[in-house]
Amino acid sequence: MSSVFDQIISKEIPADIIYETENCLAFRDINPKAPEHILIIPKKPITKLSEAKPEDLQLLGQLMLAVGEVARILHVDEEGFRVIINNGRNAGQTVFHLHLHLLAGRRFDWPGL
Ligand code: 5GP
Repeated sequence: MSSVFDQIISKEIPADIIYETENCLAFRDINPKAPEHILIIPKKPITKLSEAKPEDLQLLGQLMLAVGEVARILHVDEEGFRVIINNGRNAGQTVFHLHLHLLAGRRFDWPGL
């Protein structure tokens, strides 16, 4: 099933894209929970982390490396940031296309936001 993120990948709907590779895309969250709130997604439509397959191993690594690239672009790599993946309904996942939230620009409690 396609999601709004597929339309962002295909540029059918606009997004504030800050980083893009052949396999990954990073753009600003429309409803930010921190001064910087970026979503990092694979272009491949994996619905959630727990649906990733062994053949996605390299792609998952690319997403992890994209986190660091985005953090450097935002200049938050030194001060720190939080990365969150909501997996499924109980975690509050609302868009069923795997995405990493990178939150930065303020302090975060642990656990909690
Ligand atoms: P989830 O709750 O599934 O982990 O996170 C989905 C995120 O996608 C939410 O933080 C929500 O604000 C964001 N989002 C939903 N629709 C759009 C959209 O059309 N554009 C952008 N940039 N973000 C979106």
